Amino acid sequence: MITKSSSPKGKIYAQQYADGWYGLYVYSGARDSSRTFTIQLNARTIAAAQKSYGGTFKNWVTAIFVHELGHGLSLKDNPSTSSSTIMKYRTNWSTLTKPTSYDTTDVNNIY
Ligand SMILES: [Zn+2]
Repeated sequence: MITKSSSPKGKIYAQQYADGWYGLYVYSGARDSSRTFTIQLNARTIAAAQKSYGGTFKNWVTAIFVHELGHGLSLKDNPSTSSSTIMKYRTNWSTLTKPTSYDTTDVNNIY
């Protein structure tokens, strides 16, 4: 569950960053209850990409956020796989906004 807290273990930011990435996941600590993390969503690059490649801004934001949450579940980038996965890099990110069975299997293999 995502809730608002004054002392969160995870922080989520959406801003217009000067950097070129769409989203960023940065963590600290072991893969247990001591883990803290930050997810950043770059409204600037996401808006530009949505204009160039189509889809809705909502789906772009959702897809990038879901990808970053994938990192939070220990999934690694899988840039060029032929499998349908939230961790694959694609030109139009808006077309995949939910984890696939491939992702579920990956997470189950880790935990
Ligand atoms: Zn990634």
